[in-house]
Amino acid sequence: MSIFFNPDLASLEAYTPGEQPQGMKYIKLNTNESPYPPSPEVAAALSNEEVQNLRLYPDPDCRQLKEALASMKATDIRNIFISNGSDDILNFAFLAFAGGGGRKVFFPDITYGFYQVFADLHGISAEIIPLQEDFSINIEDYCSLPFSGGLICIANPNAPTGIPLTTEDIEKILLANPDKVVLIDEAYVDFGAESALPLIRNYDNLLVVQTFSKSRSMAGARLGFAAASSPLIDDLERIRFSTNPYNINRLTMAAGIAAIKSGEYFMDNCAEIQKTRSMCVSALESMGFEVVPSKANFIFVCSKLIDGEFLYNELKRRGILIRHFNKERIRNYNRITIGTPEEMDILLNEIRKISEEVSL
Ligand code: PMP
Repeated sequence: MSIFFNPDLASLEAYTPGEQPQGMKYIKLNTNESPYPPSPEVAAALSNEEVQNLRLYPDPDCRQLKEALASMKATDIRNIFISNGSDDILNFAFLAFAGGGGRKVFFPDITYGFYQVFADLHGISAEIIPLQEDFSINIEDYCSLPFSGGLICIANPNAPTGIPLTTEDIEKILLANPDKVVLIDEAYVDFGAESALPLIRNYDNLLVVQTFSKSRSMAGARLGFAAASSPLIDDLERIRFSTNPYNINRLTMAAGIAAIKSGEYFMDNCAEIQKTRSMCVSALESMGFEVVPSKANFIFVCSKLIDGEFLYNELKRRGILIRHFNKERIRNYNRITIGTPEEMDILLNEIRKISEEVSL
């Protein structure tokens, strides 16, 4: 830290992204990317003409992309917000809807690590609500919070557990908290959970956040969007236009519009990943692993026989990356992204060998 760094941020602990190895080739099951490429329409959209147009700034209102999203989600463009990955939206939402006058942010103890980082970055007080023993959310915990505004942040399905909430549960939280914005982070919703997006018509305090990074195979393009009542969208736009109005570049914009048009390709990939997930769950359970029931493109697993960190290191040594969190309650667990059936076969074979070796 230099002597010039803002002392208010001196203790800020930055988010640690999963490893993104640039040299050695791994089977990469650590950051929940899709194992499948973006749709052929996405590649076709990145034409030479679009490249030539890079000399011009992109449309700061993202009108065409907003129109495509609004029509896909059967809503109005005034209810759509677009940003550079959904992390950007989370950041803007923390800035817009928490802090200032003691408005807290509320989220579970085991969830996406960035929520705590954004709270710290903006000096927002965070109230951490522990998950139950089985890692599920107790809805009642969110229905008796102090009536003092702020932001509730829930990933559905949750990460790294993969456990989903029902729309009825989300409605209970919305009804109990008309003074707070309820942000539902649906980064993984397309892999079998139910989206709360249609509820934006009925609840002006609901903010639904989605991403093109996972189910649409576009993590590298950095494209996220949110849906909400138009006053919430206007608040987010105010922050975006005060930060970087050109945060969606031309190539990403063209790729996003093309991806929206490739509905069948996207649904086939999501179905394939769910099928591979079921196969992996059965195989791991038959090897004595406990697998948390997941509706995401990852599974959260632990074994009484193999230490979580040991398994992570052993697999890495063998060319397979998974995600281990050195955090209370989940130290013995690993999060494994669902890859292609072939990748998962290799993973399962290696886990089988490691299990045999430790039981010798
Ligand atoms: N929410 C959750 C729960 C995530 O796991 C991630 C991915 N790390 C994100 C949001 C952010 O995804 P992106 O910025 O790529 O849209």
